[in-house]
Amino acid sequence: MNARQPGGNSSVASESYDAIVVGTGLGGLTAAAILSRSGKRVLAVERHDRVGGYSHSFRRGPYLFDAGVHLVGGCEGGGMIDRLLRSLAVRDRCDFAPVDPCYETHFPGFSLAAPTGLAEFRRTYQEAFPADATGIGAFVDACSTIRAETQQLLAGADSTRIAGALARFPSLQRYRRATVADVLNALVVDPRARAALTTLWPYVGLPPGRLSFLYWASMLMSYVEDGAYYCRGTFQKLACSLADVVRESGGDVALRTEVRRIDVDAGGVSGVVLGDGRRIASRTVLSNADARQTIDDLVGRDRFPARYGRSLGRLRPSLSALVAYIATDLPPASLPTAHETFYFDSWDHDRSHASSAAGAPSWFTLTVPTLIDETLAPPGESLIVYTSLVPFAAVSDWRSAKRDCTERILGAIAARLSDFRAHVKLIEVGTPQTMMRYTANSDGALYGWELSPSQIGPGRLAVDAPIPGLYLAGHWTQPGGGVYGVVTSGLLAARAILGHASEADLWQSLQN
Ligand SMILES: Cc1cc2nc3c(=O)[nH]c(=O)nc-3n(C[C@H](O)[C@H](O)[C@H](O)COP(=O)(O)OP(=O)(O)OC[C@H]3O[C@@H](n4cnc5c(N)ncnc54)[C@H](O)[C@@H]3O)c2cc1C
Repeated sequence: MNARQPGGNSSVASESYDAIVVGTGLGGLTAAAILSRSGKRVLAVERHDRVGGYSHSFRRGPYLFDAGVHLVGGCEGGGMIDRLLRSLAVRDRCDFAPVDPCYETHFPGFSLAAPTGLAEFRRTYQEAFPADATGIGAFVDACSTIRAETQQLLAGADSTRIAGALARFPSLQRYRRATVADVLNALVVDPRARAALTTLWPYVGLPPGRLSFLYWASMLMSYVEDGAYYCRGTFQKLACSLADVVRESGGDVALRTEVRRIDVDAGGVSGVVLGDGRRIASRTVLSNADARQTIDDLVGRDRFPARYGRSLGRLRPSLSALVAYIATDLPPASLPTAHETFYFDSWDHDRSHASSAAGAPSWFTLTVPTLIDETLAPPGESLIVYTSLVPFAAVSDWRSAKRDCTERILGAIAARLSDFRAHVKLIEVGTPQTMMRYTANSDGALYGWELSPSQIGPGRLAVDAPIPGLYLAGHWTQPGGGVYGVVTSGLLAARAILGHASEADLWQSLQN
């Protein structure tokens, strides 16, 4: 692997390919790697100088930072990511470290470390809120059932016809329009227990009263039941391992190369036009780029059925993020002891979300990846990553706002970690503008479309678009945002292209 170009070093060697993948986020790379391993000659095209999208990393002097992703479920023991990498024969290229507790959460006068493992997770919350023990048990069980049914649905033959298939899954059917709060408030009485149980709402970007219960429950259980993991050496390694499969199978991964247009003729998709004007032919094009850009700018909305365009117009994007990448010489004893710690100044998540929506978040998370991987910084030093959610529209000029943001972030962390400021060796703030610049996601959206009940399942774009040969993968498509979601979308898209009726068929074919 070329050190300056993680994940690719090849140019576009041919005038035509079996399949072209536009964008190398984890959704696009999952599909590209599976297609390559299945014998297709694939071209993956990436406008950035490295693969990975939000799962890329960057170096500043001796420090190595993940740009976005810091926690993923299912990387060991037969979980989905583990299985994918094994099937592609690159499992040994990623070293995943378990993260347990999965997270630590702080509210005024209260803190809790949430372990992985269903029984341990349930018991920890029941012990913290004994008066609600029965309701907490029922809530955790409902989450687990949702996850099991979702996995069955997505692995089965009806995965791209979700609306019809839901009837066969009683819990999915029952809760399809439910928010997290709808389910939680019926089972758990203490508002503090409710708030603590829904600590992870920022991972899906909406407060419990607006967040899809189905999506949130699946996301939570992917960590609790399958285990939470960090990829030693950053999640760039996961992206590079998938890109390796493409190149080692005879395909190309072209970096610093933009797709400007996806061509369509009477037979469907016919190829792409690159930024330099070169035309590359293929009857299969999968876009991992922002869905609205794919449809409006790369293809042209007039090529799609009018209904498709109208439904696109109704979809609302998710929030973006404010992230501070910080290197410190703080001794480990003065740092949070969990990889991922949430700090809420209120028990009311609606209020916390409203502060984010107004561009002045009152809450944040701190990730300390050097607790797990000391090689990310020189000996004795620590990386700390501050993350909170904000909308792109909150500030008209993010570049000029960076200095203010930096001060506010330093102040917020110093209020939690004494003596913090004196130990900061480097701080670099990423704004929604930064998120957009590196991934081209409109307004730096973190999770594609908002994950509200109406925008998951059949309410989200399917992986097979209504133009022959055009496919979509990534967080703008079914099932939704986050690494687990986009890898699933890549699996669904690859299945649709290769004609595998079920996920089991796909795994079986990769073994042959
Ligand atoms: C700060 C932050 C923290 C996060 N933390 C986590 C976490 O801990 N766990 C988790 O599960 N999820 C996390 N997420 C969410 C998760 O990272 C995303 O939902 C997911 O990675 C998106 O993957 P994707 O496949 O949709 O592609 P993206 O990551 O959106 O990448 C799309 C790629 O396509 C390329 N592209 C776009 N247009 C073109 C074009 N025309 N030509 C060529 N290339 C193009 C872009 O350059 C980019 O590389 C986080 C996100 C952020 C921003």
